[in-house]
Amino acid sequence: MPAKTKEHDLVVLGAGPGGYVAAIRAAQLGLDVACVDPNERLGGTCLRVGCIPSKALLESSELYWEARHAFAAHGVRTGEVGLDLAAMMKRKEAVVATLSKGVAGLFRKNRVTHYRGRGRLEGRGKVLVAGEDGELALRAKHVLIATGSLSAPLAGVETDGDRVATSTEALAWSSVPEHLVVIGAGYIGLELGSVWARLGARVSVLEHLDRILPGMDAEIAAEAKKALEEQGLEFQLSTRVSAARAEGGGCVVEREGGEAIACDRVLLAVGRRPSTEGLGLDAAGVELDERGRVRVDEGFATSAEGVFAIGDVIRGPMLAHKAQEEGIACVERLVTGWGHVDYDAIPGVVYTAPEVASVGRSEEELRDTGVPYRKGLFPFAANGRARALGLTQGKVKVLAHERTDRLLGVQVIGARAGDLIAEAAAAIAFGASSEDVARTPHAHPTLAEAFKEAALAAGGRAIHA
Ligand code: NAD
Repeated sequence: MPAKTKEHDLVVLGAGPGGYVAAIRAAQLGLDVACVDPNERLGGTCLRVGCIPSKALLESSELYWEARHAFAAHGVRTGEVGLDLAAMMKRKEAVVATLSKGVAGLFRKNRVTHYRGRGRLEGRGKVLVAGEDGELALRAKHVLIATGSLSAPLAGVETDGDRVATSTEALAWSSVPEHLVVIGAGYIGLELGSVWARLGARVSVLEHLDRILPGMDAEIAAEAKKALEEQGLEFQLSTRVSAARAEGGGCVVEREGGEAIACDRVLLAVGRRPSTEGLGLDAAGVELDERGRVRVDEGFATSAEGVFAIGDVIRGPMLAHKAQEEGIACVERLVTGWGHVDYDAIPGVVYTAPEVASVGRSEEELRDTGVPYRKGLFPFAANGRARALGLTQGKVKVLAHERTDRLLGVQVIGARAGDLIAEAAAAIAFGASSEDVARTPHAHPTLAEAFKEAALAAGGRAIHA
């Protein structure tokens, strides 16, 4: 029996970007909020072992690569460029630690209580927290499940927390692999594959589909593949991995219908699965869908009274910003009766070089669903700022409805695509037409002009191409 019981208006399970943002917003709206998470470091997978540390390593490894391959073209001479991997990892750690302390500070400022431990539902309005110092009972009017996701396993692949790794370990290897085999050409495979390739590893990416980045626009994904191949990544598409394991100081990866590959490290990156175990969902009457995700209605209510869920644990893309939007909408609905997420305007970004970003529909989606569209393309090679930066790879693609001209999708491959896509997301959220974008003044010279030009191109009147 837990010794103590604490009462709150809302208990959030999980302090990832979905959970901590929901907790802060609920506190702003006047609720007494608690957030339960077993980790001392707040911020969830994204901050501790996902988005943030990977971006730190992507930045550092790109600088290393540029110092060796790009500085000379700018007239910058260096001596011999060396790699201090330990310092790179230390910097990554510092970035994570600072941001995580920032979340703790925000909790203090907003009077959100963090209980360290694992929470489980124990009946209506009851959560039991199992922490290092024992158990604690919480009572709350509302419970929000924001427990995120875990690396999806693959039959036959024996991850060992080191050589045959998930993204968590691949963010912290203490030496550069000689030959890294990546299983899965999605977000994680391409980002972490890029990091280790830039640092000197031979990287082979095995993907069971006949393309990389499924879900992204095919034309843009094909261009990304070409760019990554130029950087030395090798792709084996339509290749199904049947087994992988550490063996005799190295690793072996077996492929269906092909020879086994010997390598020294393996990264398994075939997706993520919702984290629902140990939460007492079944007993509490929280239903899962056919893919093991918590089933919710449009207000994020689960099948159990007073229990809500957001983020990776429910349907939709597993993206931190999608979870944040849902967290805010969910608690705003609870308090004000109104809250909304614009699912058409959720961007996706792959932080490779060049970056790949998209919002709205891909060209295949429009074609397959019979939506008539016009397409505008503009290459960064014709953009003045891209020339000045020496980063001319890639293009912007604008897809607008053939009759109404409403923006339906925007894809960008190129330098800083992840930042450029924000304007496209705003345009889609405001229901803009391609002409609205084309008539909006854009500062010159900027990469953002490529978006304006692609919008002009959708109307057949790009100036610089
Ligand atoms: P993903 O879904 O992006 O890609 C997984 C890839 O593995 C796919 O290409 C899939 O076809 C392939 N695959 C599946 N089974 C396979 C098999 N047996 N053999 C070979 N290939 C196989 O998943 P991920 O890269 O693991 O990322 C997980 C989640 O994390 C994604 O949902 C993503 O949204 C998120 N994430 C986002 C970012 C970002 O926003 N930049 C970065 C990292 C991760």
